[in-house]
Amino acid sequence: MFDLTTRDIKYLSGVGPQRASVLNKELGIYSLHDLIYYFPYKYVDRSRIYSIQEIDGTMPYIQLKGEILSFETVGEGRQRRLIAHFSDGTGIVDLVWFQGIKYLIGKYKIQKEYIVFGKPSVFNGRINIAHPDIDPASELTLSTMGMQPYYNTTDRMKRSSLNSHAIEKMMNTVVKQLQDPLPETLSPSILKEHHLMSLTDALTHIHFPVHSDLLRKAQYRLKFEELFYVQLNILRYAKDRQQKYRGYIFEKVGEVFHSFYSRNLPFELTNAQKRVLKEIRRDVGSGRQMNRLLQGDVGSGKTLVALMSMLMALDNGFQACMMAPTEILANQHYETIRELLYGMDVRVELLTGTIKGKRRASILSGLLTGDIHILIGTHAVIEDTVNFASLGLVVIDEQHRFGVEQRARLWTKNVQPPHVLVMTATPIPRTLAMTLYGDLDVSVIDELPPGRKPVVTIHQFDNRRESLVQSVRKQIAEGRQIYMVFPLIKESEKIDLKNLEEGYLHICEEFPDCKVCKVHGKMKAAEKEAQMQLFVSGEAQIMVATTVIEVGVNVPNASVMIIENAERFGLSQLHQLRGRVGRGADQSYCILVTGYKLAEDTRKRLEIMVRTNDGFEIAEADLKLRGPGDLEGTQQSGIAFDLKIADIARDGQLLQYVREVAQKVIDIDPNGTLPENEILWRQLKALRKTNVNWAAIS
Ligand code: ADP
Ligand code: MG
Repeated sequence: MFDLTTRDIKYLSGVGPQRASVLNKELGIYSLHDLIYYFPYKYVDRSRIYSIQEIDGTMPYIQLKGEILSFETVGEGRQRRLIAHFSDGTGIVDLVWFQGIKYLIGKYKIQKEYIVFGKPSVFNGRINIAHPDIDPASELTLSTMGMQPYYNTTDRMKRSSLNSHAIEKMMNTVVKQLQDPLPETLSPSILKEHHLMSLTDALTHIHFPVHSDLLRKAQYRLKFEELFYVQLNILRYAKDRQQKYRGYIFEKVGEVFHSFYSRNLPFELTNAQKRVLKEIRRDVGSGRQMNRLLQGDVGSGKTLVALMSMLMALDNGFQACMMAPTEILANQHYETIRELLYGMDVRVELLTGTIKGKRRASILSGLLTGDIHILIGTHAVIEDTVNFASLGLVVIDEQHRFGVEQRARLWTKNVQPPHVLVMTATPIPRTLAMTLYGDLDVSVIDELPPGRKPVVTIHQFDNRRESLVQSVRKQIAEGRQIYMVFPLIKESEKIDLKNLEEGYLHICEEFPDCKVCKVHGKMKAAEKEAQMQLFVSGEAQIMVATTVIEVGVNVPNASVMIIENAERFGLSQLHQLRGRVGRGADQSYCILVTGYKLAEDTRKRLEIMVRTNDGFEIAEADLKLRGPGDLEGTQQSGIAFDLKIADIARDGQLLQYVREVAQKVIDIDPNGTLPENEILWRQLKALRKTNVNWAAIS
């Protein structure tokens, strides 16, 4: 057996120091091990050549063999494109390029035989292939090739002649050395039970599959392994923590909870709220420390569940605290909770960065003596100077603004770590939640309180301004309030702010009888607060804002949300924004305004928004459209994804299956001592050491 991790890439034949340095920098490939784990992104079935007469616009990637008859350039400006009329004698297809026209005309010759690879589609009744791969037929030996791998490369790599073919050659050299098998990374029993290919075979066939069946088996084995270790890692941590820390036991549901439930609660709980409260009750009574993620769409009533969980803590002689990501939101929670607890003997205080001096000192001492039962605040509540008599439960609202690290800091606030309830309104698809927060148990509120009318969402092009203004006037006349949202992103901040200011002036002109307020992230906190207050109090009818209103604010009388340049927002952002309306009894509207020309992806996003109000459906769609690395929340929480072959969006089922396999290993071998699992624990340790991202996933 030999160890690929110790073989430097620069000694591989055909590489050398210069190319090695490019591979280091561009792809992070240093050893033969790194190289062989650089997988192809697609394969061409080189064993099959199609004839033009048998293809249509619905087929996946195909391969043709023939000649270019002539070139033609058509269109102007951005529409300008090069067309090569390509024929194999059975018909003609158009090969189309939008870039590099001059270069291509020089490169490809008329009446020379080429193999063309690409995805056919139909345009104006003709079959075309956009940006195909083309190789001279003389350079490919089809019969021996089977499936040919294609590797992603960068511009810098191409400048050092490290194109896909070059990588393929290097890979071929390494794979030939695998006649000595590699050390196996899964245990014999797992390989056998789940019918997995050996590692050596899998790595061979993932690069050079002789046919698609072997390719599928190789992919399955490698995906299985990748997801298995992600899950084993998370579940291992969870188990270790469980064994190390005891959780406070909330034995009873007592006086405070009951009197709130019977006297103060202004409405019947939804079934989903009841179910989640039961789940929480089970956790806090179990002796384990609770780490629960509560997901529920905006307006589903998470705050109430949080409050009632905090009352359970109080009933058992503990204090509770709740953190919100912004001052405005903390304020709003404070007001809401004080109101809900009206007349009860529960002391609630607010602590934010702006509360200073005597007031702050008095709160800090009240927490130490235990006179304060519930503390609500911003991240100010986790500062080192804030100490409790006996903190039993922490609720974190809008989770994705709090990093993993901050969560960990909470644990030091009492002798044993307090129970933690994390609430998020950004619905995370189950598969992703399992990977990201595998150590958290997940509860879902999948039911809105009764009587809510779903927000009606309309997509409108910006050339229909007048009718938009009309409907807004009508709503205002009926006493409603309106949000108008403008995009603001860092890269184009100056232009965006200018648009917002212009929009603001324009709206003041369009609605001379209305008071219009304005909020954006570049304002001073106090000014922002004052403007926000104008809207909350109802003094202003229209609020012009950037996405700062995305989180939290509750103005039930606001019934219309207009989102300008909606094409520039992501799906989950649009959904979050829309959640600001539809909170009262009236029919609410969300109007997505865009220009007339839209990219395909954008059109899909808008269609989904118009079709559904279901946050989970939207989150799933978002995951599929964007891929997990880009999903809102995953970046902020500091959890990067480095999956090489599995795809969270597509391999959800396998993930679930593999999680059960990993759970079984931990159940049978809780201390990691069984000899038959030795390979697994060794491999996990190695992965934790080499892959920086793994630590973060815990
Ligand atoms: P979330 O935090 O999940 O976005 P909130 O907790 O702010 O939602 O609840 C939204 C609104 O619904 C609040 O005004 C709240 O009082 C109300 N609400 C919560 N639960 C219920 C219920 N079971 N029945 C009726 N209204 C409810
Ligand atoms: Mg909320």
